[in-house]
Formats: sequence, structure tokens, C-alpha cells
Amino acid sequence: MTNEQIWQAVLGEMEISLSKANFVTWFKDTFVSSFSDELVIIGVPNAFVKKWLEEKYHKNIAGALEKVTQQKIQRIEYHLENKKQAKNQNPAPVVSSPQSSEAPIIEAPRENSAAKNVYNKFGLNPKYVFENFVVGKNNELAYAACQAVVRNLGKAYNPLFIYGGVGLGKTHLLQAIGNEASKFTDKILYTTSEKFTNNYIQAVQTGKGKDFKNLYRNVDLLLVDDVQFMGGKDGTQEEFFHTFNELQQANKQIILTSDRPPKSIPAIEKRLISRFESGMVADVGKPDIETKLAILERKSEEKGFPLEKEVLVFIANHIQNNIRELEGALNRVIVHHQLKNATPTIRSVKEVLSDLIANIQLKSLTPREIIEAVAKFYDISNKDIAGSSRKKELVWPRQIAIYLIREELNTSYPSIGQELGGRDHTTAMHAYNKIHQEIQENGNERVKQEIESIKQLFAGSVY
Ligand code: ADP
Ligand code: MG
Repeated sequence: MTNEQIWQAVLGEMEISLSKANFVTWFKDTFVSSFSDELVIIGVPNAFVKKWLEEKYHKNIAGALEKVTQQKIQRIEYHLENKKQAKNQNPAPVVSSPQSSEAPIIEAPRENSAAKNVYNKFGLNPKYVFENFVVGKNNELAYAACQAVVRNLGKAYNPLFIYGGVGLGKTHLLQAIGNEASKFTDKILYTTSEKFTNNYIQAVQTGKGKDFKNLYRNVDLLLVDDVQFMGGKDGTQEEFFHTFNELQQANKQIILTSDRPPKSIPAIEKRLISRFESGMVADVGKPDIETKLAILERKSEEKGFPLEKEVLVFIANHIQNNIRELEGALNRVIVHHQLKNATPTIRSVKEVLSDLIANIQLKSLTPREIIEAVAKFYDISNKDIAGSSRKKELVWPRQIAIYLIREELNTSYPSIGQELGGRDHTTAMHAYNKIHQEIQENGNERVKQEIESIKQLFAGSVY
């Protein structure tokens, strides 16, 4: 059995014993990372899932693993791992330089300059590396193409043309290639089509056309960002055409980005379009909700300010356009809460981001939805929660529902009583106080986690 097959069988076992929502919440993106009867490592997508599996499902997972493999398993560990990364590891860390300066672009790359200094020389920003680029459905093709190219400069696809809307990671990918390649070559040049244009005009005016040609035609890797701005600039296009041909013929790698595909760039020469299309054309699209969440998770951790999942879900659901905006929103939330020394909640985040999400009608939560989420979580029916049975497995969810309705909606006790099958308001008050005490005074982590995961169920329909 392969690890994949083992895990599929285990998931099959787990699925039977759990509600759909629970199963998806806790087992999505998990996998067997390595397997032996002494130690099984389960890869999990985030710390929250890790904790939950360790605390709540460990026994079931162990049981299922033994059942499926017919082996006695000694130990199981849960490690934060990304499924894709596990398959496609990229171990060498990038030498990072402390500064991200906007370097002047026309500076001859030096032979064998010290690796530490390369970034400023080439106009690269050290913060854009593959290691911190989150891969999702929207960018996996472009990412894979970049990986292929950087390992085989001039041989895999030449040119590589990456296109997509603003703020979707084109510059990040382009510079990541540069940063990666700078580990083994010095002859790298990153430029934008605007800088290329300006430098060219300047070179012509000062009689340094030859230096300009030498500079651009002597590299192993030429990275040109935003080539759409060459549209309408005939002299630049002419010069770039010759630069391009010379590099391509010498098997030197060219990578271009644009906000649209080659054919759609206005006022660009046909021969350039056909050059741009002659290698590989890959697009980056808008991220889906899972990718947005992964990006937020990663960035909040990088900034040393991890946020509750439900808060991340809220941000991901409401920032629609691109990753730059997503990052901006996250930064704003972090700075605001750091200043106030407060913990972000959906309510406070909604306030901080109000101008960004103003035109999106926020669906307001109702007691019904809370009851539904609680029922789903504990695998009972809505009726059970409102019903009169005193069975322990129903009383607990009922109390949690009361607690959450009060906490989230500030509903009065009499109304809560009404909502839950016409109960007396003192019953609601008692239930609220009981759970409140469990959390606040007894610091009961298990209860806190149950509540967190129920909140996720109603925070947004992510999964
Ligand atoms: P573009 O060049 O397409 O306009 P950028 O590359 O400048 O977009 O990306 C905008 C911001 O979003 C940058 O800070 C970048 O690091 C970040 N970003 C974009 N895509 C990703 C990703 N997949 N993972 C992590 N950060 C990303
Ligand atoms: Mg860009």
C-alpha cells in the first residue's frame, strides 16, 4: 500500500464516524507524510488542525491506521506540512540581504560578485522568493513553469511569458526566479519595460547605445516586468526585438510578465507577439478562498501575529480583488490590533476594514444559523437542541448554543429561551453562565476549541 492509499482508507474509516462538516473541517488537506510501524507522520495544513487531531481524533486515527494496515503502530505525529511542498521540495534557503532597495537598473552585472550583494546589483527584492510564495489553483501552472525554467535556464521554455491582473503575484514570481538563479549566476538583469524604455532613450541621447546593447545582450537571464507598457513605443520595441533575438539564439533565458496575453497588448508589433508566444505562456488568476486563506495564514505567521481562523476566513471572504489588497487588509488589521493591544475578532476586523468592505452587504448572523452550526458540529438535529430531552449528549450542545447566541448576537435571555423551544429565561441565563465559567474561570481548552470550530462553521461557508 502506498501512503496515499493508506490515508484514503483511514479517511474512509473516519468519514463514517463523523459528521460531514467535521470531517471536512479536520481532515481536508491532511495526508500521510511518512509511514513506518514505529512512526507515522501525518501532514496537516495548520496548527489549529494539528492540535485538534492530536487532542480529539488521535485515538480514532490510531485505531483506523492499525485496522487499515494490520500493523501495530507505535507512534503518530502530526506535522505542519503542505502537501504540494512535500512532493516538491526546495530545500536550499535563499541568502537574504537585509535591504530591499530600488536599485538603479543600468549597472553592469559583475562577473563573480559575492552572492550577498547580488540583489541590489540586479534590481531584485530579496523578499520575493519561492519559499514564501503560496501555490494555489490560480497560479500552479505559472509556478511550475517558473520552477522548470529556473532549473534549466534557456532550455525549458524560452521565453516564459506570465500574464494576469494586478496584484496577483507576477512580480513576485519573476523576482523569485531571479533570486533563485542568483545562487548560480551573476548575469541576471531585472527590469521593467518602462525602465528599459527610459534607459534606452537615455543611452541614445548620450551616445551610449553600445553600452546599452552590451548590458542587455550579455546576460544569462533577462527578466522584464510589465511588457504591456511597450505598447505604442516603436523605438523601444525595435531595440527590444533585437535584444530578444540575440538572447534567444544564444539560449539565454528571457522571462516576461504582462497584465494581459501577448495578442491583447495594444499597439505592439506582430513580430514581438509571435516572439512572446514562442515559448510558454502561463497565466495567474484570482485566488480561490482556500488559497486566500493559506496566504493570510502564512503572512500572519510571518509577521508574528497569528490570527484566529474565523477572522482569517472573514478577511478572505470579504477581500475579493487581489493578493496585494488581501495583504494590505491583513497589515491594517495587525497594526490596528497591535496598537490597541487587542485580540482581533470578526466584529473589530469588520470595523477596521469597513471602508474596504463597505459595499458588500454583510449577511447578519441569526440564532437559527448558530443552532444549525451547533447541531451540525455535535451531529444532532436542530430539533434536539430546542427539544426537551435531558440526555447529557443533548444538554451540552443546547448550553453551547445558548452561550453562542448570547455571545455573538447579544440576544436577551427571554428571547433566547423563546428561540430554544420556549424555555424560561433563567434556564438560558444559567446555561450561559455555566459555559462562560468553564471558559473564563476554569480555562477549559477543550470547550474553547469546540466553540472555535463551531464558530468556523458559521463564519463563512469556506469549505
Ligand atoms: P503583480 O506583479 O501581479 O501585480 P505582485 O507580485 O506585486 O503582483 O504581488 C502583490 C503582493 O502580493 C506582493 O506583496 C506579493 O508578495 C503578494 N503575493 C502575490 N501572490 C502571492 C502568493 N501566491 N503567495 C504569497 N504572496 C503573494
Ligand atoms: Mg507587478
